[in-house]
Amino acid sequence: MRPTGQLHLGHYTGALENWVEQQNLLASDGSRIYETCFLIADYHNLTTSLDTTEIYHHTIDMLIDWLAAGVDPEKSPVFRQSQIKEHAELFLLFAMLITSARLERNPTLKEQVRDLNMESLVYGHLGYPVLQAADILLYKGNVVPVGEDQIPHVEITREIARKFNNHYPHPVTGDVFPEPEPKITKFSRLLGLDGKTKMSKSLGNTILLADGPDEIMQKMRSAVTDREKIRKNDPGHPEVCTVFSYHAKFASPQQLSSIEEDCRAGLLGCVDCKKLCAANISSELAPLLEKRRYYEAHTDLVKSILHEGEIKAKVIAESTMKEVRTAMRLGE
Ligand code: AMP
Repeated sequence: MRPTGQLHLGHYTGALENWVEQQNLLASDGSRIYETCFLIADYHNLTTSLDTTEIYHHTIDMLIDWLAAGVDPEKSPVFRQSQIKEHAELFLLFAMLITSARLERNPTLKEQVRDLNMESLVYGHLGYPVLQAADILLYKGNVVPVGEDQIPHVEITREIARKFNNHYPHPVTGDVFPEPEPKITKFSRLLGLDGKTKMSKSLGNTILLADGPDEIMQKMRSAVTDREKIRKNDPGHPEVCTVFSYHAKFASPQQLSSIEEDCRAGLLGCVDCKKLCAANISSELAPLLEKRRYYEAHTDLVKSILHEGEIKAKVIAESTMKEVRTAMRLGE
């Protein structure tokens, strides 16, 4: 995840909640199913902004959200791309294994260019998924819990892994890299409050994980609903309503069906519907908010969690690069 500061609900439903679930998944013998590690992609921030003054501050802020949401540093090392040089090294090698035409066809890139009204791309932005492939494969990740927008990037990672394995089989172990699979959730593309596109900080259509009940209610007032439902008693169309898409995630199944029925029947107005939605989101986020306050008051602890994660990650990264150099026969 890129350190863009405090996280929003889309990060939570599309990634963070899924991360914590995979981190805590146990097999029948009580052992963990996955070894998990989570990366702060600070170099990736440079693809859309050269301003680095807030990166470290945003890194710590984002890590606080991760910890508040249940990322457990005892189980999952957390670390920064910029502190483990092997990311840059593997990126360089991978850049030789993919054509620029393939990267230009990336639909996530096209969507970003459209959403951010970008007139031109830097070379590093075109290579975004190549650095991401290095991020994943340095740790031999075989499952990548991400939102829908990242599926094309995981596909590119698979292609790069395949190409590397074909060109450079390791003399002893054979394939150096696994071909990772994306693991997405049901809410892997959460709409923004404007209802136009996905929730995204750069589009200003977010609810933050750090927002309290009052802020959530205030933001919810601006959420776009069914444009044909003008008066309270007009029958609504939940399938086109942004707020209903949030209910699908945050309301109980019983609540959800009565909201749907009452909206269609013109018995539930948008104001009451939004109040209910804001209250459900606030109660889901309440425990996170409390943990966030604790970590905000203990930022030295947060920084030491990061440093410890980086020590652990470095060991894995160095060992993978040793294998890579052996496979490529680059010599001692
Ligand atoms: P990014 O901020 O692009 O580094 O995204 C970090 C993670 O959050 C990725 O796995 C994204 O797929 C996920 N994500 C970001 N925005 C949304 C959204 N609106 N809905 C679902 N997932 C999202």
